[in-house]
Amino acid sequence: MRYEEFHRRSIEQPEAFWAEQARAIDWHRPPERILVYDDPPFRRWFAGGETNLCHNAVDRHLEARADQLALVAISTETGTTREISYRELHREVNTFAAVLRALDVGRGDRVVIYMPNIAEAVFAMLACARIGAVHSVVFGGFAAHNLALRIDDARPKLLIAADAGSRGGKAIPYKPLVDAACAEAGTPPPHVLMVDRGLDPGYARVEGRDVDYAALRERHAGEQVDVAWLESNEPSYLLYTSGTTGKPKGVQRDVGGYAVALALSMWAIYDVRAGQAMFSTSDVGWAVGHSYNVYGPLIAGATSILYEGLPTAPDPGIWWRICERYGVHTMFSSPTGIRVLKKQDPAWLKKHDLSALRYLFLAGEPLDEPTAHWITEGIGKTVIDNYWQTETGWPVLALMPGVEMKPVKFGSPGLPMPGYDLRVIDEATGEEAAPNRKGVLVIEPPLPPGCMTTVWNDDARFLRSYFSHFKPLVYSSLDWAIRDDDGYTFILGRTDDVINVAGHRLGTREIEESVSSHPDVAEAAVIGVRDELKGQVPVVFATLRQAGGEAATAAREMRECVSRQLGAVARPARVYVVGALPKTRSGKLLRRSLQALAEQRDPGDLSTLDDPNALEEVRRALARGADAE
Ligand code: AMP
Repeated sequence: MRYEEFHRRSIEQPEAFWAEQARAIDWHRPPERILVYDDPPFRRWFAGGETNLCHNAVDRHLEARADQLALVAISTETGTTREISYRELHREVNTFAAVLRALDVGRGDRVVIYMPNIAEAVFAMLACARIGAVHSVVFGGFAAHNLALRIDDARPKLLIAADAGSRGGKAIPYKPLVDAACAEAGTPPPHVLMVDRGLDPGYARVEGRDVDYAALRERHAGEQVDVAWLESNEPSYLLYTSGTTGKPKGVQRDVGGYAVALALSMWAIYDVRAGQAMFSTSDVGWAVGHSYNVYGPLIAGATSILYEGLPTAPDPGIWWRICERYGVHTMFSSPTGIRVLKKQDPAWLKKHDLSALRYLFLAGEPLDEPTAHWITEGIGKTVIDNYWQTETGWPVLALMPGVEMKPVKFGSPGLPMPGYDLRVIDEATGEEAAPNRKGVLVIEPPLPPGCMTTVWNDDARFLRSYFSHFKPLVYSSLDWAIRDDDGYTFILGRTDDVINVAGHRLGTREIEESVSSHPDVAEAAVIGVRDELKGQVPVVFATLRQAGGEAATAAREMRECVSRQLGAVARPARVYVVGALPKTRSGKLLRRSLQALAEQRDPGDLSTLDDPNALEEVRRALARGADAE
């Protein structure tokens, strides 16, 4: 089938389209109505239907593929690889569910999971899904205060944690953070279930609250726990994401809509079928981890590969070695991950047999053209940029090789995915922008299956955050975009990252692209810094591909490059060459902190900062003065 026809049908005949897609999963009770949309923008997909994510991800495959690998959990941090078949996964998840039950966790109860990328994190998520408990995975890189905020919002019956994560061979104890978070939280959970990896021997235990998973696992081994059949719109999980205020939003997902959307995305977008392997380098704590390390591949009957470790250790060929070893068909990573590799010898890309690999998908942040070119040429595979948000749970923009492979256009994440009726709206007029004109990317409701149903416990915030920007009611992505004549959308950055230079609106992304096109630049961040005369001026922080390169010359050339490509208005006022850029653990640039430092303000919330040295680098560079201005 052709892409256009497939997408058109999903928009013009949503009920027929999604009724068809719903056949890809098992229903205990079929839906009574495919879509109920009597209280816009709230909508209910597959109303009255009863299903279960764990059943669809695990039990359903026992008949045909019990001995096939379901999950491979590789840690180059601990030097371990665990290969887990669907039969073993079923056993582990049942045991974990029995443990949850023994701790008095039931349907609708929240469970906070604070763990690194290890198999037990996946067992815990699936066990929650099995009994209808609502998990909320908190990324292991978050510190105690963030964890406490999430605990107080979700009010969990249980917190599941590992003793430690590990990074670059160094254990990062989690337990002290858990204890501090429980002390800070107003409503700490009655129990903390500890998965002991032996990375933090002798961690402190709180009597009466902390329980040891290994002991309970032994006690409940072999128990079977019935699947709880949930109405399609009951909550399956919460995933917190930062908003404009300091309080994170609990993005709430449903059951049936999510399962159906993932099932569709697995074959249509990621081209992964039962029996094939998918390797996503994401952390389970992010949206990609939920959808494409856990639920998506398992619902599809595929093998999911989970990775704990750096992209460069033990050597920069590790990802490709994993692809070779497991015959990975589709890989999923982030542009930052690739830019890390870009600083290494490209020979690493050629060392392994990648004949099974068909696609590399990249998401989470803008994929700059030079990086897209570099990796496409380096591995000789199709590289597909895909755009989505924690809120949507699966891609909004991508290409669908499983339906019809459209040409890749570097710089664009592609075309609207099924069910997404997208518009680019002119911010000033609220009207649809003409092709090639910049506007805000919005989704015409109802949001498709899989997207968030609301903000946990806060419908008003859901409406305010996403549906209050334009009239009539549309979902604002808060991203700037341009749609070209072929319908390809280009994302120009967050609406909240816009900079205004002497009355001209500029996307920092555009300038970054331009700076990155300089052959010596590894990565660049552009921010708007206050300026007496022009309001704001663009300022560049860039890392070079070769440490110790000639900074002043490169910096001068970067400015010239921007002037040449985008015009003098976009010419960076200052360029600072630094050794590293401050980023979150998930690889997003901490622009606000950068901007604050450049404006001599407090850098704000640094709890998600990956590498404190990067911030110091920036401070030093600012004190030293620009490399070009
Ligand atoms: P998160 O919810 O943390 O995944 O962040 C979502 C935001 O990341 C989006 O609103 C975009 O600003 C950005 N983003 C995600 N994927 C892409 C992409 N492929 N291209 C450009 N920006 C992206």
